[in-house]
Amino acid sequence: MYELLRERILGGAYKPGQRLDVGAIAQQLGVSQTPLKEALAALAREGLVEIKARSGTYVAQLATRDMIEVFDIRISLELLAAETLLAHFTASDLQWLSAQVQVIQATQTLDEHYRENAKFHQRLVLLSDNRKLAELYDQLHAHVHIALVHLVAPGWWHDSPIEAQEHTAIVAAIRANNSDELRATMQAHLRRSRATLARQLG
Ligand SMILES: [Zn+2]
Repeated sequence: MYELLRERILGGAYKPGQRLDVGAIAQQLGVSQTPLKEALAALAREGLVEIKARSGTYVAQLATRDMIEVFDIRISLELLAAETLLAHFTASDLQWLSAQVQVIQATQTLDEHYRENAKFHQRLVLLSDNRKLAELYDQLHAHVHIALVHLVAPGWWHDSPIEAQEHTAIVAAIRANNSDELRATMQAHLRRSRATLARQLG
């Protein structure tokens, strides 16, 4: 149920701001309202839907200011991770990151792309070996928000080759154990992504 609803939102079947009629959806899917409401509550925790008291359930709508604020925090957290991750990475982490750059590039759909990209960035944060940092990062749900923006303004495919180059440069800096280079490549990647996001938000 959760997966299905999530797919409908990220696939654009339900539009941002659209009111979701719980009764109608339950009937359409042939399920009772209780599991449906549970799935919607999980999606609300993730920031994909908004449940408003005495009003209803809506697909999340983007507030430009929130998005940019979340993105800026995300940048600081990832750069903080960059400061310690070189002390913790292993050969298998490096191999995984390197392979993941290819996986991201090979994705065919928006949902897939954002999930694989999120895994790449999450791994970098996990490599910092700072649990509080990883927790804060997860709570931001930055990737979910970004996916929603791209859904509204699907210009992201154009940036895909640049993104791959930047990810490759990040992995190369880790391989070279070069902290200045790592900081610079991550900063360049995240700042460019932020600029793209701001442009799409208009
Ligand atoms: Zn990225």
